[in-house]
Amino acid sequence: MNKILLLIDKLEETGELSLEEYEFIIQNRTAEIAEILAKKAVELRQKYYGDDVFTRGLIEISNFCKNDCLYCGIRRSNKAADRYRLTEADILECCDEGYELGFRTFVLQGGEDGYFTDDVLCSIISKIKVKYPDCAVTISMGERSYESYKRLYDAGADRYLLRHETADKEHYQKLHPSEMSFDNRIKCLYNLREIGYQVGCGFMVGSPYQTAKTLAKDLKFIETFKPDMCGIGPFVPHHDTPFRDEKAGTVELTCFLLSLIRIIHPRVLLPSTTALGTIDPRGREKGVLSGANVVMPNLSPVSVRKKYELYDNKICTGEESAQCKNCLSMRMNSVGCKIVVSRGDINKERS
Ligand code: SAH
Repeated sequence: MNKILLLIDKLEETGELSLEEYEFIIQNRTAEIAEILAKKAVELRQKYYGDDVFTRGLIEISNFCKNDCLYCGIRRSNKAADRYRLTEADILECCDEGYELGFRTFVLQGGEDGYFTDDVLCSIISKIKVKYPDCAVTISMGERSYESYKRLYDAGADRYLLRHETADKEHYQKLHPSEMSFDNRIKCLYNLREIGYQVGCGFMVGSPYQTAKTLAKDLKFIETFKPDMCGIGPFVPHHDTPFRDEKAGTVELTCFLLSLIRIIHPRVLLPSTTALGTIDPRGREKGVLSGANVVMPNLSPVSVRKKYELYDNKICTGEESAQCKNCLSMRMNSVGCKIVVSRGDINKERS
């Protein structure tokens, strides 16, 4: 207990710990320590963001994917997946609805679908930016070339989400087929940063073969890369993937890591994810009480929501966007926070 608290003091003072120290904290955590960390994390969240929770309207634009990630329900080998892609008109309609509801960030996420060439995506991005210049556009469409990222950026994309999935190369290889490369994924994150995007990385908690050692590397990566956003959520098995019989991640460890990440990088934009809400009915509230400050309600047309099934029992697939937004609004109020109408950029000034 004392040793962990001393390490946390050191982290707060110097902004860094060694891999062994992170590993020690993860391995020796207790409910009591988690509570102390959550309190510190919430104080830091309040210092930089008050009680504001930022929202992002998530539009799941395609579930076609050329990749075969072993954990993911929309992997190309899943023949049972009912594939769809949204048209430009569909996507713009989602933005119209989202704008009305107060969203000022739209996240276009999807599998690595060859249909979404640079030309197609640039046209969509620039149309959104012309219509809604006060909004941020975030892309989350996987690995692309430097030139491709640059073109999307020049068309108006502001942010890019690309979870690194794990910062341990061997672990990465156990989660992905051999044609996918850890080095390329990390390279993509650095390319995005160089181009000028606000960049988000992240990982699943409790993914198969994850250990305190691999998690320590994730924390070290966050400490050094200093992403603008960091998406973490529990791994949840999908019944049509090789990991169907693996155990899901826990709320406890996810919340503990959310608090640690807030302490490592106090200004980071940290979502309380849908996956966390899936494994616990109050998961997203618990995430905010552990230091998260972003929620990403679903803005996809209800007709496709069930098809974007990355994992089993995903929540919020039946309601209209307005219902989702209201439900989350009430949930955030229940933990003393409020959803705000704002682009919700990272706080680089106030302290
Ligand atoms: N194709 C994009 C978007 C992937 S989906 C990309 O490569 O970035 C977004 C995230 O969902 C993934 O990065 C992964 O971390 C998460 N995810 C996928 N399958 C999951 C599962 N079974 N349980 C929990 N999260 C999962």
